[in-house]
Amino acid sequence: MAKEKHEFQAETQKLLDLMINSIYTNHEIFLRELISNASDAIDKVHFESLTNPDILGNDKTFEIYLIPDKDAHTLTIKDNGIGMSRQEVIDNIGTIAKSGTQAFLEQLKKAKENDASVDDKELIGQFGVGFYSAFMVGEKVTIETRKAGEEQATRWESAGDGSYTVEECEREGRGTTITIQLKKGFYGSDADNDFTDNYEIERLVKKYSDYVRYPIKMDFEFEETPKDENGKEIEGAEKVKKVETRTLNSMQPLWTRNKSEIKDEEYNEFFKNQFHEWEAPMEVFHTKAEGTVEYTALLEIPAHAPFNLYQSDFEPGLQLYSRHVFIMDKCKDLLPDYLRFIKGLVDSPDLSLNISRELLQQSRELKVIGQALEKNILKALGRKLKSKREEYEKFWNEYGKSLKIGVYNTIFAGGDVKDKLKDLLMFMSSKDGKLVTLKEYTERMPESQKKIFYATAKDKETIEQLPQMETLRDKGIEVLYLLDPVDEFCLEALHAYDEKEFQSISRGDIDLGDADSEEAKKETEELEKTNDDLIKDIKAALGEKVADVKLTSRLKSSAVCLVADEAGPSLSMEQAFSDMKNPLFKAKRILEVNPHHDLFGRLQSIYKTEGKDSDTFKDYCDLLYEQALIIEGILPDNPVEFANKVAKLMAK
Ligand code: ADP
Repeated sequence: MAKEKHEFQAETQKLLDLMINSIYTNHEIFLRELISNASDAIDKVHFESLTNPDILGNDKTFEIYLIPDKDAHTLTIKDNGIGMSRQEVIDNIGTIAKSGTQAFLEQLKKAKENDASVDDKELIGQFGVGFYSAFMVGEKVTIETRKAGEEQATRWESAGDGSYTVEECEREGRGTTITIQLKKGFYGSDADNDFTDNYEIERLVKKYSDYVRYPIKMDFEFEETPKDENGKEIEGAEKVKKVETRTLNSMQPLWTRNKSEIKDEEYNEFFKNQFHEWEAPMEVFHTKAEGTVEYTALLEIPAHAPFNLYQSDFEPGLQLYSRHVFIMDKCKDLLPDYLRFIKGLVDSPDLSLNISRELLQQSRELKVIGQALEKNILKALGRKLKSKREEYEKFWNEYGKSLKIGVYNTIFAGGDVKDKLKDLLMFMSSKDGKLVTLKEYTERMPESQKKIFYATAKDKETIEQLPQMETLRDKGIEVLYLLDPVDEFCLEALHAYDEKEFQSISRGDIDLGDADSEEAKKETEELEKTNDDLIKDIKAALGEKVADVKLTSRLKSSAVCLVADEAGPSLSMEQAFSDMKNPLFKAKRILEVNPHHDLFGRLQSIYKTEGKDSDTFKDYCDLLYEQALIIEGILPDNPVEFANKVAKLMAK
């Protein structure tokens, strides 16, 4: 096939421009990225060769070769991994197939709009841009690659300027060779980093890639005086050039080393290398177990949740190794879904290399390991909550949603997840706007209070303006603010904490448990009796829109509010499911009217003078209901009609 020119996908080019204009100050990490890609590619062919030894052909070794060339100003990274077919080169390198790129660029733009000082590094860290980092140091990058088991090799080349070329080429054996034509500044005597210098490269490999499991080799040239058969230098003989190939990395996997001897930086580098992180982990778990099943696990909670953690394209799971040989990436069956944010690996001699993925995933060993890991992680989180509150809150802000979804899912899946997680949950409290656990809430609630109160809205300000909040605030009753739609579902699934049920302030009757409230309630009941006809006729005027109309003692300065019946979903749950049109998720709406508000007096008088069939009375009822809807953040069914009624009233 002839040489073809392709344009980069627009998003890819944008990303490349970011790279070329170098948003990282730390250019040298490109080498780590390319070595890590090479190591991944060797992992793949290594694993495949376990069941299909022929794939290796004559080349049964696994290695990464680094070839600096001072005269040509190039650095070449060569591996004998799985390689790529022509189409794979186009798909993997020319386009960023992952939907993440676009999302990343949008996020970057948004973050910049909100806060100009936002750190690109932090954001870009969430995206795998490994290969492209070559353009930070290179003005031209050439890939020559041949897929294991195929004859044809492909050359890809680009200067990062909008297009790339692909053509056929020759390559001996499988694997990938990446040659970077270095930019000025990255070679020569006055370079900041000279990536054609053997010792500089050796330093970088030691620093970033020491425990890569395959040898990273490089040739060192030196001059030597010839020696005689006794090993003595021959006097007067002319020096000869010699080449020695050295392995630069120690190859000892980090997780096999003793925990007490590993420095934090080593862990950090490890996760950067192996899991494409850009920041130090929030938490590292390194455990060895020698019980019924033997294993080592090295896990992390990444510093930030990936942007797509809750989207279907996010692939959770841990890497699996058996005796340090890679078996599988993204094994989902080790940890429960609510820990989907955990990254890392498990290495166990008890896992069999030669069984299929499906069987492996069902293996007893995997279950035992998974359960132990889950327990360890939850214990560590519990400890963090107790002794490092600030750090725990940071964790909660990043990953709390995952745990809440875990609790919620028990509605369908059953199990004891909610018991495991209930003490790790946090919600914002009306007390001080800070996060509070359910334990802290129940411990400080007055004895007369029987339930745990919560309110739902999209933000704190909206909740604080809810008419229902007024009385609770006056009485100093603590309310949990549920700001994420999943929160209410989570509490619904928990049902109660420490035998105290959850009670939405916008749902059913609320019992504050004090004498004042009892009295106010009684008084309201009396008023309901004397206004019985009026209430019935308001309800009749509203028809299907409401399940009931009541007078209430829960309001102070507001005229109305809308609550949901105790049985069935709340209004906010209904909103969360509004696009589903599922009648099961229709809240039973109850309009509550404040009998002490002037508006109620006005309604009474219109009722008396104009009667229940008058337009004025009907308009008043509608407006009352629609007002209550708006307070809940729900638009009236017919906003134009609503506006017209208001206008009519104002013009009177
Ligand atoms: P990531 O490594 O995060 O997937 P990259 O942009 O670094 O992103 O690489 C994109 C893809 O290109 C890889 O997923 C892999 O399929 C392929 N690739 C990159 N380098 C190599 C290599 N040395 N050998 C084989 N395939 C490679």
